[in-house]
Amino acid sequence: MQRPLLLSGIMATGKSTVGRLLADRTKRPFIDLDQAIEARVGESIAAVFARAGEAGFRVEERRELTSLLARSDGPAPVVALGGGALLARDLRLAALDGAVVVTLEASPAEVARRAGDDGTRPLLTGHAGEQRAADLIAQRATAYAEAHGRVATDGVPPATVAEQVLAIWQRDAIGVAAGHSSYAVEVGRDLVASRLGELARGASLALVVTDENVGPLHGSKVHAALGALGKQERDVVLGAGERHKHVGSVERIWKALLHAGADRKSVLVGLGGGVVTDITGFAASSYMRGVRWIGAPTTLLAMVDASVGGKTGVDLEQAKNAVGAFWQPSAVLCDTALEATEPLRGYLSALAEVVKTALIGDPELLDLVEREATRVKARDPDLVGEMVRRSIRVKARIVGLDERESGLRAVLNLGHTVGHALEAAAGFERLTHGEAVSLGLTAALRLGETLGETPRALRERTVRLLDTLGLPTDLSREPVSEAVKLMALDKKRSGTLLRFVVARGPGDVLLRDLPMAEVERLAKALGSTPP
Ligand code: NAD
Repeated sequence: MQRPLLLSGIMATGKSTVGRLLADRTKRPFIDLDQAIEARVGESIAAVFARAGEAGFRVEERRELTSLLARSDGPAPVVALGGGALLARDLRLAALDGAVVVTLEASPAEVARRAGDDGTRPLLTGHAGEQRAADLIAQRATAYAEAHGRVATDGVPPATVAEQVLAIWQRDAIGVAAGHSSYAVEVGRDLVASRLGELARGASLALVVTDENVGPLHGSKVHAALGALGKQERDVVLGAGERHKHVGSVERIWKALLHAGADRKSVLVGLGGGVVTDITGFAASSYMRGVRWIGAPTTLLAMVDASVGGKTGVDLEQAKNAVGAFWQPSAVLCDTALEATEPLRGYLSALAEVVKTALIGDPELLDLVEREATRVKARDPDLVGEMVRRSIRVKARIVGLDERESGLRAVLNLGHTVGHALEAAAGFERLTHGEAVSLGLTAALRLGETLGETPRALRERTVRLLDTLGLPTDLSREPVSEAVKLMALDKKRSGTLLRFVVARGPGDVLLRDLPMAEVERLAKALGSTPP
């Protein structure tokens, strides 16, 4: 457990009691955030409120929590937060990134009963207290939902609550903040066997969607984990590959659900690459106006990209992902044992997305892939796990800020404007998506350099890395001018402007809208070899 554990939730849910138990049990320091503030400012919380009001108190609370999250020395502590500590969204996202956040939940009646017992919270006791607790819980529900896990405490002994919290802390998952649809992405080996059964518990039935390649290799693990919830004979086994990503495949899933007697408490499990997970998510978004789905991605691309963010959908004729919905999974298991059988070309292609993600938001990931390129290419399982974890963390941070892609999330398209166009110009056959992204990244760095934003050294370093990974970077062999024509049709175009993501340094990117005429001018230089 390398990240601190933050216990969140309304007052009187037992955060301090459970926190102390856990700290004892794990031999970690215990911090009560309010007490830490009192010790630092030299006055009681009540005095801070009286002097500076709630706003003044929140400033102190933010200062304390921010410095705690920045600390990297010593063992990671267990921290009991005040009930309002994570109400500010930016702080909550920072907490989800830098710590493991667990919300302790209790019903309003239980909160009022406990407050009456300990006698220190007169505002929460009795009937009026119960009403006040209900109001507070309702007001803060979205904030409390954005956590790595939630544990119900009504009638549960603190030691049992502590056990459940410890399990969440130990999982060290990545939290994706999406309001009430928030979820955790777990990364590790053999996770399907150890976790899927528990995640599906409570469902009326489970239906597995997979494809003809993945099903025979990994379907049995999924069924062993689901037990009686999932029956192999009702699996939907799709044809493999992008050409099966159409509404006909979704209809097969809808019908299988209907014939199995699925209701709104049923769960879909998407076991496969990005094609399968995108289709499964879309079927889940639309069956009975939405059922739960769990992602079990089996390709590196599906793990680092498609598994996070809730974009689901299918292609319509030639238009990729033209029909779809935002529908978050309820959980994602990136089981690296599943990925081990992915064909090598797909794995290597997805490394282009890893490099892209590193450029957008994780300079250490760029260093890691560069330093360990040989082990990366040899698919060392520990390294794969680390690349997946780090890539997802970057994507989760961005998705948390912009779930519906109304702005910031567009930075994830670094290298994709040209990449998509080259992929299309190659008829979606010669180049894999990742190979096209590798070329697209090369192009984006060259465009950025021409615009005076991308340092030459960054372009050279990245292209060298892509080369080392065996990914294509030679634009002179690509139909660039045809791709430019296709870019004019890009979804990201608005009027005569085309949106590009430009890299200024590892972890430093920005969006630039360029007039189509300038894109055409700049693109002419792309087909030639750089100086
Ligand atoms: P894919 O799902 O077509 O899988 C590639 C091939 O590998 C298929 O033939 C598949 O059967 C096979 N395969 C998958 N896992 C395997 C395994 N473990 N062992 C053996 N064979 C295996 O392709 P992909 O590259 O995983 O995903 C591409 C799709 O993902 C595209 O449709 C793209 O639009 C989508 N995508 C979605 C998002 C998103 O945010 N939703 C992001 C990126 C990509």
